[in-house]
This record gives sequence, C-alpha cells and structure tokens, in this order.
Amino acid sequence: MVERRAISVDGIVQGVGFRPFVHGLASRLHLQGFVRNQTGKVRIEVEGEGGCLDRFLNELTHNPPPLAQINHVSWSPLSPRGDVQFRIDASESDSDGQVLISPDVATCAACLGELLDPANRRYRYPFLNCTHCGPRLTIITGSPYDRPRTTMAGFPMCPECSEEYENPADRRFHAQPTCCQSCGPALRLLSGEGTQLAAEDPLTTFVQAIQAGRIGAMKGVGGYHLICDATQEPVVAELRQRKHRDEKPFAIMLGTLADVQAIGEVSSLESQLLQSPRAPIVLVRRRPGCRIAQSVAPGNPLLGVMLPYTPLHHLLMQDVQGVPLVMTSGNRSDEPIAYEEADAVERLRGIADLFLVHNRPIHLRCDDSVTRVIAGQELPVRRSRGYSPQPVPLPVECVRPTLALGGQLKVAFALGRGRHAILSHHMGDLDHFAAYTAFERDIAHFERLFGIRPQRIAHDLHPDYASTRYARKRAENTGVELVAVQHHHAHMASCMAEHGLTEQVIGVTFDGTGYGSDGAVWGGEFLVGDYQNFRRAGHLRYVGLPGGEQAIREPWRMAASYLRDADRDLTPLEAFVPPGALQAVRTMIERRFNTPLTSSAGRLFDAVAALVGLRSKVTYEGQAAIELEWLAEKASTGGSYPVEVLEETASDHSEPTFVVDSRPIVRAILHELEGRPDRPRIARRFHWTIVEMITVVCGRIREQRGLHRVVLSGGTFMNGLLTAEVVRRLTRDGFDVYRHHLVPPNDGGLSLGQLAVAASRDSSVARTTFSGAT
Ligand SMILES: [Zn+2]
Ligand SMILES: [Zn+2]
Ligand SMILES: [Zn+2]
Repeated sequence: MVERRAISVDGIVQGVGFRPFVHGLASRLHLQGFVRNQTGKVRIEVEGEGGCLDRFLNELTHNPPPLAQINHVSWSPLSPRGDVQFRIDASESDSDGQVLISPDVATCAACLGELLDPANRRYRYPFLNCTHCGPRLTIITGSPYDRPRTTMAGFPMCPECSEEYENPADRRFHAQPTCCQSCGPALRLLSGEGTQLAAEDPLTTFVQAIQAGRIGAMKGVGGYHLICDATQEPVVAELRQRKHRDEKPFAIMLGTLADVQAIGEVSSLESQLLQSPRAPIVLVRRRPGCRIAQSVAPGNPLLGVMLPYTPLHHLLMQDVQGVPLVMTSGNRSDEPIAYEEADAVERLRGIADLFLVHNRPIHLRCDDSVTRVIAGQELPVRRSRGYSPQPVPLPVECVRPTLALGGQLKVAFALGRGRHAILSHHMGDLDHFAAYTAFERDIAHFERLFGIRPQRIAHDLHPDYASTRYARKRAENTGVELVAVQHHHAHMASCMAEHGLTEQVIGVTFDGTGYGSDGAVWGGEFLVGDYQNFRRAGHLRYVGLPGGEQAIREPWRMAASYLRDADRDLTPLEAFVPPGALQAVRTMIERRFNTPLTSSAGRLFDAVAALVGLRSKVTYEGQAAIELEWLAEKASTGGSYPVEVLEETASDHSEPTFVVDSRPIVRAILHELEGRPDRPRIARRFHWTIVEMITVVCGRIREQRGLHRVVLSGGTFMNGLLTAEVVRRLTRDGFDVYRHHLVPPNDGGLSLGQLAVAASRDSSVARTTFSGAT
C-alpha cells in the first residue's frame, strides 16, 4: 500500500552532502517526494510502499554521509499525493531553527584519487574538494551556508564546475567551495620579504627549498604553518632559534600511516584518529633511534604527528618523497597563528625564507587540533580545526541563549542554546593583545553565524581575567546578565556535561591555577555537587606562592615554599639558585609579602620537579610537571609517600573539610634525596602518592556523603601516567569514574562547564514554575 511520510532530520545536515544522499537513497528505493533544507534542519516528504519507507528511514538514520551528524529524526504520516519523481527543493533560510555548521574536513578518498590521477581534469589541483570534504568553518562568512557567503564568492564557477554543482547525482552537487584549475584559487611564491617570485610551479620551487634545508611558511586551511625538514637537526634548531620557542614541541606531518609507524608506536585507536576526517595532531610514542631530529621535541618521549589533510598537503608530502616535515603554527612564540597574507609576511619575516601562499582568503583563523590516547581512550588536548564548531550535547536545556567565555589561558568560548554547546576553535592565551582582539572579533562572528544573541554571559570568577573584563564591559553596554562560575566548579561541570551526568558527583579537579571562592589560588580540589551548587569537600594544604606569577615561571620558588612549610631549610636548592635570590624568597615567604596562598596541585608537581633537580625555571606552562611525568615513566613502581588527611571544621560547616597534608610527602622526598638518590623512582613514587591521596580522599567523601561517581578534570589530568592509574585505582575501589573524551581537561574545556552551570539555572526556574503550577 502506498503511504506518504513527512520526515524531519536534525543535526549537522547542511553542507555535508545530505540532500544528494537523500536523493540517491530515494531513487534506489523508487520513492517519490522531495528534500529541502530548512535553517539547521532537513525536511523530507517521501511516498511509496510502507516497507520501502521503513528501509528509507532506517538507512537515513543509520548510514548517513560521513560528515553528517544526526541528532534526531522524527516523522508523521501524510496522505499520498501521487508525485511522479523525487526532487531537491531550493534552500530555505527563513525558519527559526538552529544553524549548525560543519568543521573543516580532510580530503576524502574520492578527491585524493582525482588529485593523483593524470587523466582527471583536477590532476594535481591543490584546492579540489567535494560535498564530503574541504574547508567549511574557516571560509564561511555568513549563514545560511551558500557559496556567496564563503570566501569562494570571488571565484565564479566555470561551466564544467557549475554543471557538477547543479547535478543532484554528482558528488559535487551543491559543494559550495568546489572549483578547478580554470576557475579556482592558485598558488603563488613569495620571498622572505614578501615580494612575489616568478616560478613556473610554485610548489616545486618550494619543495626544492625545503629539501635544501630552508624554512618555509605555507598557507593552509586555518592559518600559516612554518615548515622544514624534520630530520635535519641544524635546520630544526635554526627554526627553534628564529621562532624563540625554547623547548615546546613542534608538530610534524608525515605522508602516510606507514611513515608514522616507522617513527612511532601507533595503536589502532591512534591510527583511526590520524586517518579520521578531523585529521588532528596525535601524540604518539616515539621509537627510540628514529630519524626525527631531537630538537623537534627535546627530551619528549612523545611526538605530535599528523597526516596530510588538504590536497596541497598531499602534493607537498608526495613531492618531498616521504621526508617528515616540521609543521608548526606560523607565529612567534605564543602569539596567535597568522592567517592573513600581509600579517603573515610581517610577523614571519626573519623566520621564513620563503612563503607558499594562495588567493583563497581564510575568514576564520583555526589552529590544528591535538589529541592523544590514554588507557585506550581519546583525551583531547586542544579542540580546534576539524572538531569546532561541531556541537557538544548539553545535559540540561539552555533555555536562554548563553555565551560562556572560558578563562585566561587556552581559551575556547562557547555558545549555548537548547541542547547544543557550540565550542569555538582554540583562541590561545588572552594575555596577548592580538589574541584578545581575535577573541572579541570571533565571538561576534560566531554570534552572527549561528544566529545566537546571548542574553547571558558566563565567565570565570577571577576578577582580572581579560575574559571577565570583556563580560563586564558587555554587561555595562548592553545590560546582558552575568554569571560568574568558580574555575574548578566549571572544570567539574565540564566533565559531567560530557557524560550527561545530572546527579551529585565528587569532582576531583587538579590544575595549576584557578581563582577560589575564598580569594586564594585553588588547584588541588575535591568538590562535591552538581551544576547548580558545589561544596569544597577537600583540598591540598595551603602554602605560599612567593612572587605570584613568578613562582609559576620559576618552580624552585615553590620548592622553597614547600620546604619552609615542612619546617626544613633551603639547602637542597643552593646548588642551582643564587644565594641572594634564595634569601629574598625566604624573606618573602616568612613575611607573607607578595605571597598569596595556594592549594594548587600543579605547583606541588613544580616543587617536586625542582627538588629532584629537574628544572628550576620553565619556558612554557606546565613544563616542569610534564618533565616529571617523563622522569617517572623511567622507573618501575615502587610504593608511595605517606598520605595524611586532616579534618578541618569551619564554623559555617557542619561537615569537616579534608585537607591533604603535603609536609610528610616533602619530608620523605628530602630523606630519599640524601646520598645517591634514584630520581626516576622519586618521581614515580610522587605520582603514586597523588593517586593514593585522590583514592583516600574520595573514599572519605564516599563515607561522608554516600557518593560513588567521580569526575576527573583540570590540566593535571593531561598527565597520562597519573590519569590511567587514578582511573584504575578508583574503579577497583568501586567508584564510577568519568574523564574527558570530548573536550580537553585543561582550560580549553572550561566554557562547556560554564554553560552547563548557567543553563542549570534555567532548568531550576523551569522546575519551580512547573511545580508552582500543579
Ligand atoms: Zn572530497
Ligand atoms: Zn571550474
Ligand atoms: Zn584550570
């Protein structure tokens, strides 16, 4: 019997080849009707035999095109109309649904085949793409997604491209950025000074320069990369010196998965991530003695690797004949990545010997994403290209459109509406003026693009963060409501949100720095609560942070602080700290001068790293703690130091707060440092001590509160050794343990938590209203 159904599909269904897919599916099943885009949705009406309609729905739901993300499919019966064909209707953009936009997508297999096929009209064309791959977020200037609202607007299609674009059966049907040699963008070569160089084939000349040991800058999807041969030590060292990037690791690109396997140990999940359409940088374990130059990632047992994700990368890697290339963000030290030609030439002058550029503008800057696998699961490190702006589901309805700003470092902001959190690309550290300017501009762009006008802004509790000042300024100008969210509460809520948890949990939030509700610098926190409220159930013992920010850059200061707290003198530091500086810091600590209190776990790692003589100063955030993890990996297990938990009862709490006493730990480490210390073993024991303290305190909280769900968040859980063991121990002790797998545990994931906290206020209002009505 012939039936007709109206089907509505929600999710990322625009700009991903969804309508041609529906057309093809309907044709195969001999169904009639139409498919049409509505803002953020696809509406389908199909007519045919009931059994075929069921198969149609089943295929649609379970085998959508690779880039589509289907959140919801619903349907209702209609009376048959006797259509004679299946057609694709023109776009509609006037409904008030939600706009969802696809991230940038790595070159698909079909396009790669064309790129390398001498008989194809797009042979070796560096900008080919289709409905299943190519640039999206970085080239879209407005919505709905259509060619005139992309940076391809200035490239009218040639007759052949137009024909493919108009043909529903073609894999380039409505592929907005589609183009070819005769109608699309082209490469150009510039000197180190930015003047155009005559080159018959700019790519070939560029490749020759790289092979000859030069440093190049290349325009990619979301910005410029600095590129050089990753196997030539002097060249990499030269790049490091020109870039003023002391020891932070460089990412590398390899031509094929086999090339990656030759230099690193790659698990099956890691190879899946490398080859996924998101094409992130994946941290893999370096093979000892591999041919990658040491200064790519000095002292680091891991290498950040990625595979080619644009046609230009594929051509480049093919032409250099499989030589691994350094491919690091085009910037000086920690500035934002350059993405505009004039700016790139200006800022990279003196670093790059030549530039390979093209004339397809980048509208939105977007760094590469970074991810890793810990204990068999993905742990995002930086969520940016390929991931943003794909929405993360919210566990509570965000009734009022909300903007969440993140913190100060590793910022990614987020827009929330309904059940969607749309996280931005990586914005970097807002200390940089250029990063802050981009932050303001990109927030405005996202609000326009997604049609979300925030009625509320969630920000960090820290009064001096640039993001907090942005929130206050906007509230003054527009009257938008502000919600200040405590840093570690946001971390906890972020991990809860990923797992859709709504019940009370124990939030173990360990990181470097976050403004506490009592004005101290928190960072080793055991919270108890949900999205709406939290209580600080436990924390590390407070010690001084001598010199504030300076103590973060100079871990020996933290060692001094912990030594004094444990009633020990500073002699262990005399070997590498000048006596004058040591004396000055001792005085600071004793007089509490410019020495705020901190319970930071990151600073305890710093102190131990300094005590074992690993590092007295750092060149990038978290460096000492990261190196302590590497050191610990060299030892086999060997017990832990004493963990003592004190109970403090404040006048306003009926329940005691658990305070982890760090003094016995410091004293035990000092004892081991006497004589001929086994430093890897000390580092390993210290890690196991942190595991022990987390296990013990969670156990005490469970006794007190009956809670058995634990979420792990904060930058300290970037530490793979620690995270894997904490998960193992807590699970063994009967806890349900949750860790991050969608957003980073570091401050890059804060905005998701801030959104969930803000949104929970709506649901409480909704609940109250509801109960009031009954
Ligand atoms: Zn493609
Ligand atoms: Zn063309
Ligand atoms: Zn944090």
